[in-house]
Amino acid sequence: MPDILSLHHVTATVDHAQPDLDFCLEHLGLRLVKKTVNFDNHHVYHFYYGDERGTPGTIWTTFPYAGYGVPVGIKGAGQVTTTSFSVPAASLAWWRQRLEAAGLAPADDETRFGEAALVVVDPSGLLIELVGSDADTRTPWTAGTVDGTHAIRGLHSVTMTIANPGPTIAFMEERLGWTNAGQDGARTRMTVHGGGPGRSIDLLHNPTAPRARNGVGTVHHVAMAIGTGEEQLALREELLRAGAGVTEVRDRQYFTSIYFREPGGVLFEVATMAPGFAVDEAPDALGRDLKLPPWEEPHRGSITAGLAQVRYRA
Ligand code: ZN
Repeated sequence: MPDILSLHHVTATVDHAQPDLDFCLEHLGLRLVKKTVNFDNHHVYHFYYGDERGTPGTIWTTFPYAGYGVPVGIKGAGQVTTTSFSVPAASLAWWRQRLEAAGLAPADDETRFGEAALVVVDPSGLLIELVGSDADTRTPWTAGTVDGTHAIRGLHSVTMTIANPGPTIAFMEERLGWTNAGQDGARTRMTVHGGGPGRSIDLLHNPTAPRARNGVGTVHHVAMAIGTGEEQLALREELLRAGAGVTEVRDRQYFTSIYFREPGGVLFEVATMAPGFAVDEAPDALGRDLKLPPWEEPHRGSITAGLAQVRYRA
């Protein structure tokens, strides 16, 4: 069985770059740990947000596709429909005030497994939750816009809307080593490595949800962390043996990745812990400059000319 350590990152298709940066940096208080381009379309930015180092399990990433004719997606079955970050339980009231003051109209979301949650809609229509959890011991990024008392600790979980959870649960258990940790209403919680914030995925059973369609305002995939490239290759072989369609190993510069779909339709990625975001810029300068992988460097001039100008405090 593969040793999946935690969530690694969640990636979404968003609209314009500047409002995305403003939301994640000014409102959520995350750190921009990398400004690069989509390696599959270098005309589009790829922003990585996270804690100080962009530790796997804290990372939220976006592709701002405004201007490229990508339609608004449909939220539905076969998709990550909500991305949840964890904050201290006692900080939810503070967050409600902060988000209300910013005009973001936070709403109570359902309490699940004893934890309360606030939900906000980001500038592209994505559902972002803050889950109050006192089980999170991770050190937050505190040099941004939120102090350490209240700051986001990292990803808490994602919620996948699934029309028929049985095959998804079996796949996650048998192929990926996740555990069914129980049910709360229509939610089944899958956990790995002991569970808790950063190590949980909720399956929301909804047999009548529309079929999801990828596009602006939807999550593209969720990635899980694995220790090494050798373990990643072994998992890939196992998935192939089991008849699952899986990509070759792709070099994402900050980690290597494989991609495959679970039976409910959600695109999963398994990404390595190393080398991380300090591989091409100093830890105290993460996110400041546009970083390109070696194979894109020859095109830096034309790439830069085609990208929207953005402003932010790095
Ligand atoms: Zn990814």
